[in-house]
Amino acid sequence: MDGIDRRGLAARLAEVREEIAAAARRAGRQADDVRLVAVSKTHPAAAVRVLAAAGQRDFGESYVQEAIDKQSELFDIPGVRWHFIGGLQSNKARFVAGAFSLVHSVDSPKLAQALHKRASARDAVQDVLVQVNLGGEIQKRGTCGDDARCLCEAVLALPGLRLRGLMLMPPWDEDPEAVRPWFRGLRELRGRLEAELGTPLPELSMGMTNDFVQAVEEGATLVRVGTRIFGRRPARG
Ligand SMILES: *Cc1c(COP(=O)(O)O)cnc(C)c1O
Repeated sequence: MDGIDRRGLAARLAEVREEIAAAARRAGRQADDVRLVAVSKTHPAAAVRVLAAAGQRDFGESYVQEAIDKQSELFDIPGVRWHFIGGLQSNKARFVAGAFSLVHSVDSPKLAQALHKRASARDAVQDVLVQVNLGGEIQKRGTCGDDARCLCEAVLALPGLRLRGLMLMPPWDEDPEAVRPWFRGLRELRGRLEAELGTPLPELSMGMTNDFVQAVEEGATLVRVGTRIFGRRPARG
């Protein structure tokens, strides 16, 4: 035996799907307006295989080497979409551009530029989200560093990238209701940016194990759920 709890994985996946659907209904949305990204970082490829067999298609990874190893191990599964959700250094952009269905974590003009360059070299257009630090939005008015508006403009100017929306990692809080205002803040920022930039930003990537229900109620189109599906992550080392 490989120590993979097949029944448990499939059961938890089904539970999360039901909770997403219920939250969507409460908010007057359709269940399939929300995509579940199962965050498989630190978990074995065999566990991803079990979930894929249960119909899960979107998987999230945070560490470049681990993600690439898992992709090559699972190349035979049709229709899997890999999401890069972790912090990414520009010098690793070449491993990511063109190799992931969506990069959630574009957080600097430098990284955007590096991804554009590498995607273009592969004749690819990389779908990306701009990762927003809502705390920083207030302090950084007027500067053109990594504030959301400036970053979105930078991405829109790069033909190797296609801007799909925004991603948020709010400050941790045990109480999911305390996180809700951050989710609402991201949705409102999306509305402002759509108006200011004159471009649709359809995707909102927000909500994790502890607060995905609140995120869906506030408009998430992508929720990134790891622990609730896979169990606790082993320490990295
Ligand atoms: C690890 C991770 C998640 C999943 O977190 P859980 O609390 O295990 O659901 C979501 N988003 C990002 C960016 C992550 O790094």
